Amino acid sequence: MGAQESLEGARLALFGMPYDGTCSFRPGTRFGPAAIRNVSDGIETYCPIADRDLEDVRFADLGDLILPPGDKLESLQLIEQAAGELYNRGIMPAGLGGEHLVSLSLVKAAFRRHPDLVLVQFDAHLDLRDDYLGTKLSHATVMRRIMEFVDPSRILQIGPRSGPREEFELAKKFRTYRPDTVSPSELSALIANRPVYVTLDLDVLDPSILPGTGTPEPGGVSFATLQNWIMALSGSQWVGWDVVELSPDYDSSHVSSVVSSKIVRSMILASTATLC
Ligand code: MN
Ligand code: MN
Repeated sequence: MGAQESLEGARLALFGMPYDGTCSFRPGTRFGPAAIRNVSDGIETYCPIADRDLEDVRFADLGDLILPPGDKLESLQLIEQAAGELYNRGIMPAGLGGEHLVSLSLVKAAFRRHPDLVLVQFDAHLDLRDDYLGTKLSHATVMRRIMEFVDPSRILQIGPRSGPREEFELAKKFRTYRPDTVSPSELSALIANRPVYVTLDLDVLDPSILPGTGTPEPGGVSFATLQNWIMALSGSQWVGWDVVELSPDYDSSHVSSVVSSKIVRSMILASTATLC
């Protein structure tokens, strides 16, 4: 995708987080980062909507982290450590999942450097369960864990359309919930001039566009809607981001991987617009 291999001069660094140990329905997101890379050769580096080219962005792809299979806590720690090392070098981390639990580590690392950040979550789900089948650390609980250190007044949950009533009541009480009708200009007004971290669960897209995910939810947004949301944030100061929950092997056409790769392109361009 036009990435460089070394961190020399890079403003942004991508790395894969191939962890899918808590997937509640069907696993396979550990193959997500590699699938995004594989198809990225076929993606144009120029984006006509942003009128920018990936070749004008100094960004690195560090490959996938090596995570111990089955060891959740160690995996989370290695991810947080990797993000922390990038922050120490003044480079913005950009993680490719993996399941959504991995975002916990990235948001922790970002929050340590930017306690005033605003967190934007694009997702079909709120991920606000307190526990899931007895475990506190799951992709179904990740936003609840994040809310233990990021104040809900700094969180926007955009596009959720599935989950138990209690989760929606909680999100409405905390005022984090935004329906998928929120316009790009409303979204950028909500962020204002605050630093932003974006966590993007690809199942926010309709399964007709991206069937290759662990918990597909009918009734999702279009590619254009998601891309316009991302581009609406391109004037903001980004401090980190992740794209999670691609499970490539559930889509034998590989279109889900292509869609994900193009979303990653939008994220690279939007997150670096004020840097380059
Ligand atoms: Mn999620
Ligand atoms: Mn989801």
